[in-house]
Amino acid sequence: MQELYKEIILDHFQRPRNQSSLQGADIEEHLNNPLCGDEVTIYANLRDGKVVELSFTGRGCSISQASASMLAERLQGKCREEAGTEIEAFLEMMRTEENEELGDLVALKGIIQTPNRIRCATLAWDAIRRGLEGE
Ligand code: ZN
Repeated sequence: MQELYKEIILDHFQRPRNQSSLQGADIEEHLNNPLCGDEVTIYANLRDGKVVELSFTGRGCSISQASASMLAERLQGKCREEAGTEIEAFLEMMRTEENEELGDLVALKGIIQTPNRIRCATLAWDAIRRGLEGE
């Protein structure tokens, strides 16, 4: 299982989905994680209550960047409520235990061996959550 998790993370890290900046986006939220040196900026455009575009830029460890890529792939096209529910489910999983309903995202939970890496995985998700709340 660890090998599969590593493959999923590495795939997103090496070939990130939706890695670009969006000029003048409805949401632009930057967060960093000083403990590890990770940085993530999430950009999103909303239309009719739906996340029509979602992308990110950033640098840092493979977990932080893979997590942002997985977020972008997963939440683009969702309506606000669905996105909010997924964000909460993901953050809840990172605090507690693996949740099979979250598909590939389980890899982020499964790969983390020490609690101080959890922030790497949740960085992008906290950024989009803040962005959606501030909208
Ligand atoms: Zn990190």
